[in-house]
Amino acid sequence: MIVVMQPDATSEQIAHAMERVEELGMKAILLKGTNRTVIAAIGDKRETAREVLGAIPGVERTVPILAPYKVASVEAKKERSVVRIGSGSIGGQQIGVIAGPCSVESREQILECAHAVKAAGAIGLRGGAFKPRTNPYSFQGLGEEGLKLLAEAREQTGLAVVTEVLSPEQVGMVADYADVLQVGARNMQNFHLLREVGKTNKPVLLKRGFAATLDEFLLAAEYILAEGNSQVMLCERGIRTFEDHTRNTLCLSAVPALNQRSHLPVVVDPSQGTGVNSLVTPMARAAVAAGADSLIIEVHPDPEHALTDGAQSITIPEFELLMNQCRPIAQAVGREM
Ligand code: PEP
Ligand code: MN
Repeated sequence: MIVVMQPDATSEQIAHAMERVEELGMKAILLKGTNRTVIAAIGDKRETAREVLGAIPGVERTVPILAPYKVASVEAKKERSVVRIGSGSIGGQQIGVIAGPCSVESREQILECAHAVKAAGAIGLRGGAFKPRTNPYSFQGLGEEGLKLLAEAREQTGLAVVTEVLSPEQVGMVADYADVLQVGARNMQNFHLLREVGKTNKPVLLKRGFAATLDEFLLAAEYILAEGNSQVMLCERGIRTFEDHTRNTLCLSAVPALNQRSHLPVVVDPSQGTGVNSLVTPMARAAVAAGADSLIIEVHPDPEHALTDGAQSITIPEFELLMNQCRPIAQAVGREM
């Protein structure tokens, strides 16, 4: 259930209500909005607990929650969440774009790419240092060396670094370098990993698994939120269907559907979502029109020689064009880019 505090509830009253929730055998998660604070009380549906909590000073009312994802749901928090990444943010008026290569390959490659995407208007730099490859003999990423190169690119450009973490043991190391921890599609239901990133204070970009329903996706986000990390972004990156003209089928109706169910920002990845470079920009335009809060785009200075995902990477001039084409669409749907 949700315990809605009065607009003028004091911090003592809020702390007391949290204590009472825990005493009643539930887990209390604090959700602070701009006007109001609510407490998500998780783990008990008894009506008596609702009555007890409703009588506490500073509590306005208690509301049962129907969605299985308690903290992620719009029932828990009406206002949209804004996740700060570096000096920018995702989920507000501005559509913040993340761009960069699939993998960090070399110092020259990542620095050239970082400066170019920054100049084109990106706020985040993507680049995998640890790559989840289908084939164990494929390039696995530069590892910690790649993280160091990403940190250098951040120093030079001010871009926030977004990079994937593959295992619970790696979370500490990746968090030392990254601004945003990416949990990949193949790990969406790696519950140990979700809990570990939930214990950090870093924003998390959670990718939808390619066979996951929206409920499963939101429950994966809930694992992170339940550990106390409220900075979660949901990333639609395509699902597996019978269709084979694309690598995955980008499920753009997930964007408004997630917005109806959850307050968390929605990011669209048309690169993994299509697997075809000529389809990336049209689908980026469509994602903005559908209400995406952010795009994550694979950009490579020389896609032909990319070590991973060259076929879906766009060039730097193509990325500039993507940004220019998406801007008026953002305006048409009441956003800025
Ligand atoms: C990627 O972003 O390069 C990637 C591997 O993403 P996903 O987990 O969506 O496949
Ligand atoms: Mn990729």
